Amino acid sequence: MAAHMDVLPNQIIRLAQLGMKEQLLAARSIWMCVSCLTCNSRCPKDIKIAEVIESLRMTALRDGERNDYLKIMELSPEARSVLPPIATISAMRKLTS
Ligand code: SF4
Repeated sequence: MAAHMDVLPNQIIRLAQLGMKEQLLAARSIWMCVSCLTCNSRCPKDIKIAEVIESLRMTALRDGERNDYLKIMELSPEARSVLPPIATISAMRKLTS
């Protein structure tokens, strides 16, 4: 997943510490995160990074930020039919605040 992120999870936390809201909300990474919680389990400081990213997504949606990365409804019915259900649920969750 990191290969698809423009800002890595540790960098997201640093930007948050610095109060760089615009950069955070513009980051592709907040839409690429699949909430797998790996970063949470590996963080030596026990920071709930996945929850921080989730809150950034919610903030972006509430601010009217467009999400150009999740276009699940533009997939063909055939493509959607072979997606794992959890992928569909995860994608749809990201479209609601
Ligand atoms: S929860 Fe953490 S490790 Fe998992 S995709 Fe999101 S940022 Fe990456």
